Parts: sequence; structure tokens; C-alpha cells
Amino acid sequence: MTFLNPKINLKKYWKKKIDTLIWQKKPNKIIEKKNNRLIWFPDGKLNVYENCIANRLNEKKPCIIFVDQNNKILKLTAKEIDYKVNYLSNKIIKLLGKNFRNKKIIIHSSASLLSTISILACCKLGIHFSVVFEDLEEKAILNRINLFKPSLIISRQIKKNFFIKFKKIKLIKRMKFLFLNEINFNIKTKIIIPSYKNNSDRNLFTLFTSGSTGQPKGIVHSSGGYLMYSKFTTHKQFGVNKKTIFLTASDAGWINGHTYSLFGPLTLGATTIILESPMLLLRKEILMSIIKLKVSIIYLPVTLIRLMKSIYVNFKINTKDLKTLGSMGEPLAPSVAKWYSNFFSLGKKSIINTYFQTETGGIVSSPNFKETVKNSPHGSVGKPVSKFINFNNLNSKKPIEINIKDTWPGIMKGVINGQNFFKNYFNKQGNFRLFDLATKYKNNIYIHGRVDDVINIRGHRIGSAELEAIVLKNKNIKECSAISIKDELEGGSFVLFIVGKEKKINEYGVKKSIFSSFGSFALPKKIFYIENLPKTRSGKILRRVLRDIYENPKKNNLKDLSTILDKSVIEKIKFKILNAR
Ligand code: AMP
Repeated sequence: MTFLNPKINLKKYWKKKIDTLIWQKKPNKIIEKKNNRLIWFPDGKLNVYENCIANRLNEKKPCIIFVDQNNKILKLTAKEIDYKVNYLSNKIIKLLGKNFRNKKIIIHSSASLLSTISILACCKLGIHFSVVFEDLEEKAILNRINLFKPSLIISRQIKKNFFIKFKKIKLIKRMKFLFLNEINFNIKTKIIIPSYKNNSDRNLFTLFTSGSTGQPKGIVHSSGGYLMYSKFTTHKQFGVNKKTIFLTASDAGWINGHTYSLFGPLTLGATTIILESPMLLLRKEILMSIIKLKVSIIYLPVTLIRLMKSIYVNFKINTKDLKTLGSMGEPLAPSVAKWYSNFFSLGKKSIINTYFQTETGGIVSSPNFKETVKNSPHGSVGKPVSKFINFNNLNSKKPIEINIKDTWPGIMKGVINGQNFFKNYFNKQGNFRLFDLATKYKNNIYIHGRVDDVINIRGHRIGSAELEAIVLKNKNIKECSAISIKDELEGGSFVLFIVGKEKKINEYGVKKSIFSSFGSFALPKKIFYIENLPKTRSGKILRRVLRDIYENPKKNNLKDLSTILDKSVIEKIKFKILNAR
């Protein structure tokens, strides 16, 4: 089992990168095995805040730029951020008391100044935190509080009433609350709180996964390994440096909002732009304000790119500052990728189509900023980010489940709600399972969707992503989803959900493109025209929900729906299905 016994070369590779971080005690060891788990840089000590902000206090340029829904732009230097972080850290220490470093904090917020400053204060103090998306349903928030067991919850002043009604619950009664107003932060405090020394393996944060697979899990990341990998992948894949102005349109409650909105660009001395909501980019005036900030890298969720494609017609952006585009979260169909690069006038360059999970901490495979469409075509997730991220024997013909053979520093440390969950991530050979299907063609990797979403048509296995990419080639189709269904006669088939009006879509054209790509056997059993797809708040299509409602549209118990963006979508789809029967 190579995973738990890393090769010497792998250790040497990461040893060379030790000096990319600021250590309070430089590690001598790279990896140590303990209780069937690997610890990265076990004897190293560092502080994440020091790496992100405290080492930049003399800089004049902004470190973070916030853009809110009123198109108000707030530019903050490291020094200005440091005032706010010291102010908040001091409040936290007072509330948590002597033993504050061994307590946990939930940050209940969306992408905002409040969540950013709270995250950075936790990093400074070395307090294990978890960002919980503000607009999640009550039940989902309670569930996360129950699993994480924080001593303190930080939220916005206007959310006070939301928590007051929970106070009767025993667990919550014992907790402290800190309700803040963004304006409270307009402060220059003289208090200076030290950046505490933390073991590299100290828990940095827990993030509950999007739940696209049905069970939200609390994925825990360590300090040293995670930070090293964030910095490494941001530099290597995007080419970020001190001059970069980087826009990652992701909410703070998702892994991208941690790794690529904050830690990666901040440790590299770049400026990061944080949007109050990724959806703000659908407003032309806000998009233009961001362009005026001289943004050099734009990194967006695929669902957002698809929406932009349907909105920004006959309009193009051409700026010499923008050098690189990235995509995240979902398969990027070649037709959508092409529109994306043409819209931003970067036709020949590859899109950094990043493949990663909450569990991997950072990108495991993607094209890099130097590549062109010629060597990393649209639709592919390029090559693994390092020669030590080895996938199993992928081939060009049959999509197979993708695993990673050797460890890497960004790998999750564990799962907060159960060791059994953690064990499940490793297959019989001891490789790390990613639960996605992939192929490799001319050295580039293609992701075909989740293992659970594979479409079985009369014994032929096709990934959902592959079918959807073909359908998306048709004009007037904004979004679609293909799901596998049981078909006793034919031994498996699929149905298509298309976002759009039936009258406007050429169904014959859709079928023809499927026919010519896969053959007559692959025609959909039924096409439903719907207003919206069920999606998680991070923009992932909830294919398992579509499958469940197709199989039983009268069923009400649909497993975990805590991360769904809009529940009303489900009722509308149920209605369509029932009407068609
Ligand atoms: P999460 O941990 O919530 O970010 O979800 C990770 C999952 O999103 C992966 O396992 C994939 O199924 C999917 N995913 C992420 N990035 C890509 C990508 N570039 N192409 C295709 N699927 C992706």
C-alpha cells in the first residue's frame, strides 16, 4: 500500500517546497505515519495568518477588495485588515476565556467582510473554525452546529433573532454568540494579539461538503499541509504572483472560497477580489466595475458561466489586464468553454478547468496558465498538478472510477462525523477514492461525472457529463441534466431535463446530436422542459434528486436537501413528471 508508505522521491519533492511557507519552526520531517493516518510536516510550527496577512503589513496596495450588491467597492490593505483582525481576536479571547485555543467557532455568514475577518482572526489565534453558509435552512444549520459543537457562533447582528429561538436547545444554551455589524469593523485598535504558534497538523477548519451525493460530511483540514498545497496549486496552475488581481467567485462556505478566494492568493502576495455573491456577475455594471479594477484572473463556477452565456448576448469584453480564466465545480462542456473564452477575448488559451473536491483541499488536475487549447483542449481537466498525483490506469475508451495512488499535502485530515466515513475513502489497494469517472486522451484527463450518476443504456455506461455536453451544443439550451433510469425492457435508459421552453428548442436537433455522437441506442426515453434544475448553493446540479423524483414523484422524503438553492424547483419538476404519466 503506497499511500501510507510514501516514496522517498515524493518526500524529497515536498521537502524542496518547505521554504515557500513562513514557519515559526521549520520542519525536519515531511511525513509521519500515526494511527493509520499521515501527518504532513509533523514537527513544523506555523501560523496561517502570518503567512497571509501579517507578513504584508508594509504593503501599500490592497490585499483584499470587496464588491457588494450595491456595486460599492471597498479596498483594504493588509494593515487595515490587521486592525480589524486584532479587534475581533481580542473580542473572541474575552468571550472564550483562558482556554480559548482549544475551543471551536462557527462563522455563520456569506461572503463578506465579516466572514473574511472572522476566518483570519481564527487563523491568527489558531482556533478551529467552520464557515456555515448563512442562508442554509434552519435544520441544516442546527445539524452542523450539532456535529461541530462550537463554543462560539459569530453571525451578523440582523441574524440575532434567528438564533434566539434556538436558545432552548441544551447544546446551544451553553454556547456563546457574537453578533456583529459590518460597520463595527471600521476601527483602528491599538491592541495587538500575537499570531500563535501552531503545530502543522493542528486543525485549521472543517467544511461541510456540498451534499451533491446526499450526505453532508464535515471534512477537516490541517494547517501546514493544507496551506502548502493552497499556495502551491494557486501558483502553479494560475501563475499567481504579487501583481495578480484575482477574482474567485465563490461563497466563503465552500472550499473554493477558502483555498482560492483567500489562502492561495493571500500567501502569494496577490490581491483577491471577494464578491458578496457570485451572482453579482450577472449584472453588467458590476462586471464592468471588476474589469476596471484591472482584474488579471477570473475564476468562476460552471453554473454561473452557463447563466452568463444566456444573458450576455452580442457583447464581449476585451481588456489587456485579463490574462487567465478558470472554471470550477462541474464539468465544463466544450461549447460553454468556447463561449467563455470568446466572451473575454482569450480564444486560444486553455480555461483552467479545475478538478478538485472539498476532500482534496486544492486542485488535483487542471490545465495550467501557460497552456493553449491545442495542448489542453476545452472540456478536459488537463494533467495532474504534480508528478506525484498519480491516477489509476485511465484509458481513452472506457470511463473508470478515478483514484489517487500517493498522498499529497492538501489531503483532508479526517471527517468530523465519523472515522467510518474516512475509511470509506480508501479502496482495497489503499488508493484515495474520488468517486468520479474519468478517461485519459492524449495525456489529458476528462471527468465524466459522479460514479452514482453514470448512465447505463442497455449495458453501455456513459457519464452524465458526456451526454450533457452533447446536448448543450444546441442553441437555446442554457442548462440540462441527464439521469439514468431503470428500464426493465431495455435494461437501462435515461431521461433528459432541459432548462428552456419546449417551443424554442429544436428537439429533433437534440436527438440528432445524441444519435450522431453515441448511436441510436442512446436516445432519451423522455425529455422534460423545466424552468430550473435543482442545484446546491455552490452551483452543483443535484442529479440524485432528479433521479429520486423521477422514480417516485409523489415521494416527499428526499434524503438530505439542506444545501439546495431553491426547494420550490422540486415541486415544479414533480408536477411536470406527474403530468407526463
Ligand atoms: P465538492 O467537494 O462539493 O466541491 O464537489 C466535488 C465534486 O465536484 C467532484 O467530485 C466532481 O464530481 C465535481 N467536480 C469538481 N470539479 C469538476 C470539474 N472540473 N469537472 C467535472 N466535475 C467536477
